[in-house]
Amino acid sequence: MSLLNKHRKKLLMIMLCTVLYIGISYCNGSNANINVAATKSETVTQTPRPTLTPTPTVQPTATPKATPKVATKYSNGYVKVRKKASKKSSQKFLLKPGEKVKVVKKMKKWSKVRNKKGTGYVPNKTLSKKRSKAIKIANKKASNFKLTGYCSCYDCSEGWGTQTKSGRKAKANHTIASDLTVLPLYTEVYIKGMGTYTVEDKGGGVKGKHIDVYCNKHSQCYDIQSQAKVFVIE
Ligand SMILES: [Zn+2]
Repeated sequence: MSLLNKHRKKLLMIMLCTVLYIGISYCNGSNANINVAATKSETVTQTPRPTLTPTPTVQPTATPKATPKVATKYSNGYVKVRKKASKKSSQKFLLKPGEKVKVVKKMKKWSKVRNKKGTGYVPNKTLSKKRSKAIKIANKKASNFKLTGYCSCYDCSEGWGTQTKSGRKAKANHTIASDLTVLPLYTEVYIKGMGTYTVEDKGGGVKGKHIDVYCNKHSQCYDIQSQAKVFVIE
């Protein structure tokens, strides 16, 4: 009986040892597998990264296409380019008939325009697509006026001197008298061959298409041209 027990103990010891050995070797093997998987995953994640870098280079080429449309137009008269989109807004500079501008922004009644003189607002109706048409329209809007000159002497101003209907003091190269039903007070005009003037006065003998131009000296009144094309500044 004791001999059989001894054999059983030996067998049990051998079995235990083999189980331990298998167990240890299995654990080592699975660890090794995990390590292999870890190294594999590292190499997999590293490779797709460089493929991501070329994609942003496509985006900047798409953005310049989105630049706003800039239309070229021409002024169809003597037009004030104003600070704001309003007739009450002050003048920044003056456009001549046929003068080229770039329309930066178009609104319902006004356009924001730009040229070498600067940027400002003009009414949409003062712009034309073609230069030749713009000049044609400008000439159609203009009309011929009879011109005379007057000064502050008693004969010319009947004692009013430099005092004008507007209340402003008359100035040469600036003040004109008109028939106020034709050209109302404060109307600004461009007299061809002379320049820009403002209606600040009226005269008893100034009727219809007639402009009396204020001069510093009586002798200068005779130098005024007898007639000229007059454009109302818009
Ligand atoms: Zn005079």
